[in-house]
Amino acid sequence: MYSKLLKSFILIFIVVIGANPANAQRKSKKNNEVIPEIATKTTPKLVVGIVVDQMRYDYLTRFWNHYQDDGFKRMINDGFNCKNNHYNYAPTNTGPGHASVYTGTTPATHGIISNDWYDKISGESVYCAGDDSYSSVGSTSDAGKMSPHRMLTTTITDQLRLHTQMRGKTIAIAIKDRGAVLPGGHTANGAYWFEGNTAGNWITSSYYMNELPKWVTDFNNAKSVAKYKKPWVTAKPINTYVESVMDNNAYEGLYKGETTPTFPHDFPKLWEANGGYDILKSSAYGNSLTTDFAIAAVDGENLGADDIPDFLAVSFSSTDYAGHKFGVDSKEVQDTYIRLDKDLSRFFSTLDKKIGEGEYTVFLTADHGANPVPAYLKDKKVLTSIFDSKGMKEKLNEYVKFTYGTTDLIKDISNNQIFLDHDIIKNLDIKIKDVQENLADEIRGYNAISNVYTGYQMWQNDYTRGLPHVVQNGYNEKRSGDIMYIFNTNTMTYSSTGSSHGSPHIYDTHTPLLFFGKGIKNGSTVARTEIPDIAATMAALLGVAFPSGGTGEPIIEVLD
Ligand code: ZN
Ligand code: ZN
Ligand code: ZN
Repeated sequence: MYSKLLKSFILIFIVVIGANPANAQRKSKKNNEVIPEIATKTTPKLVVGIVVDQMRYDYLTRFWNHYQDDGFKRMINDGFNCKNNHYNYAPTNTGPGHASVYTGTTPATHGIISNDWYDKISGESVYCAGDDSYSSVGSTSDAGKMSPHRMLTTTITDQLRLHTQMRGKTIAIAIKDRGAVLPGGHTANGAYWFEGNTAGNWITSSYYMNELPKWVTDFNNAKSVAKYKKPWVTAKPINTYVESVMDNNAYEGLYKGETTPTFPHDFPKLWEANGGYDILKSSAYGNSLTTDFAIAAVDGENLGADDIPDFLAVSFSSTDYAGHKFGVDSKEVQDTYIRLDKDLSRFFSTLDKKIGEGEYTVFLTADHGANPVPAYLKDKKVLTSIFDSKGMKEKLNEYVKFTYGTTDLIKDISNNQIFLDHDIIKNLDIKIKDVQENLADEIRGYNAISNVYTGYQMWQNDYTRGLPHVVQNGYNEKRSGDIMYIFNTNTMTYSSTGSSHGSPHIYDTHTPLLFFGKGIKNGSTVARTEIPDIAATMAALLGVAFPSGGTGEPIIEVLD
């Protein structure tokens, strides 16, 4: 009797909660009072996902005084700032970064283990977005032969397309092909990337379409990128850039034809020697021409024109090229961020006008961070080490020859992983586990290497914290190597100029995560958030199914 009553009470409760989710509120029959109904989803007209390639979290704070009110500051002051946001896997590279933001999981699941990797089946190196079964559209070169076929799970962009029965559009844009192809997911209406050289055009792949839409050919024909063929000067007087090192220093790369790495960089003069339009990629102007094209896409595709949410995925690649060339402490990188802030401000005010303030939702993050230039740190007495990656293979081959009598055991060394020939190991009648462990022991003795893990360890254990957890999240059973090694922090493995990334260390994992616009609370948190949480948060906001391999959790503080 009692339980029957309870059951019918629960039933009534369910009926009330489940009723009419579209109505924001309903009237109670009894006394006409208004009971607010809990919204089941937020439907912005447009979702904008922004990835700033190689953006460290501290670029927000370091250059804060130079930013305008309506760029980064608008996102932070009106939106939500996750101050302690991290990549939870390694290698921290561009392909895996973009895939992880949009799939809400890590390379262990989505399979994009790096930009390029040694493919164990074909025995060749493959590119994360490369696909020879498609052809270039808008170009006669091979630059358009791309597709997301190596990404094994769906993206938040796919889920929105599926949820709306393909009525919501997805458009993805970046100078780098992988910065557009992976965020666009498997179902993008269009993904576009920039072909430099003499063309200076936005192109795509036949995976998406057989010819460029009119708005793209119009944009290309108008040669609007040509206006950036001008000297790169600082946006503000260079003596106000006190947050970076002297312009002329030994830690920066040079454009071909330059004698010092200093402003102004005379692009018209340097043009031919540096690959024509390619020179813009490593300058602040690359982000401006990306913004121009993103704005053209909003118009050309009528994004956000109706109540079915569309998705515009934009990745700013030039921050990464500039970081690699000049380093995180350079005046060039500082200027690139000051100018990106202006581009963001221009972009947001366009969206305000076209879609309406408060009618769109934006998130902004990065695909990885970057380390300070090791040579600079060394001069400042910060502990660094130097590693000779070329000598490694010879040394290891000597070791395997001595131990196993053959030099054929090691097939490839890439992305700080060693790939072994499993067939030869089987023929020699030795165990793969033993070879992995012996080689791992050998490498542990190398100076600049701090940690070594084997594939066998990854198969046998379920790590929940620390470096092994980070390595395991990046370890894909079918695609990753037999041995994974990690360098000491700030190890120099490349030329002495510029910054890089790829490690599991905190300077490569700590990235901004900002949310802003419809359905987003105002505030901030210092609680740890992780990259796979972004797609989960957006799925919860939009009320769509989580991406198929999702492992992240919605960040509850962010959602209104
Ligand atoms: Zn990147
Ligand atoms: Zn400089
Ligand atoms: Zn990079």
